Amino acid sequence: MSAPGPAPWPKVIAIDGPAAAGKGTLARRLANHFGLAVLDTGALYRAVALRMLRAGAHHDDVAEAAATARAIRPSDLADPELRSEASANLASRISAIGDVRAALLDFQRDFARNPPAGAKGAVLDGRDVGTRVCPDADVKLFVTASVEVRARRRLNELRETGHAAIHSRVLKEMKERDARDRGRELAPLVPADDAIVIDTGGLNADQVFAAALDVITSRDRARWG
Ligand code: C5P
Repeated sequence: MSAPGPAPWPKVIAIDGPAAAGKGTLARRLANHFGLAVLDTGALYRAVALRMLRAGAHHDDVAEAAATARAIRPSDLADPELRSEASANLASRISAIGDVRAALLDFQRDFARNPPAGAKGAVLDGRDVGTRVCPDADVKLFVTASVEVRARRRLNELRETGHAAIHSRVLKEMKERDARDRGRELAPLVPADDAIVIDTGGLNADQVFAAALDVITSRDRARWG
């Protein structure tokens, strides 16, 4: 009988899905488990949006959005205001601009190739990580849930972080954001052909983590060592 192969050890994990599907929590837990660095790629788009909001720039100002995207640095990703709905909504508008996406692509790919602090690899979560940013990722997960479940989660998240929010408005904005992210021409939100879909609707964070770990450890053991 042959000995069991090496434990599966991914270097790059791509997690995509719509807003508030549970990507961020899962990304942090997988990164912790495998000793990988983590990048919330949505924070890059939010950081561009936040800088534009603070500068009073108009959301249709394509040149300003692209210049702002080129100026984004890792230190921009720690601002607590990134979590506001205003940042999220403007992020989903400026993310349809080709020059913005191009400017942020290098940042993301560089992070995946050269993860900080000596990490062995990286987990990136977003909308197009498995399809565009890291099409060769070792593992691709697409995490989703109904828009009602996601709006309820986002509402709780906003209230816990001290942001005033009402359910009907969060639900409406989430539907609009879903439509923009799925319907845009450039890098629309779709699962990669080789992504495993996890519906987090009836699951808590522990169950989502267990499901993801199961996917990672049961498939394609020979691809990494
Ligand atoms: O993930 P999060 O909700 O923070 O992302 C904010 C917005 O940034 C999304 O609605 C989406 O339009 C955009 N985004 C993107 N590509 C990514 C990550 C986020 O277009 N990889």
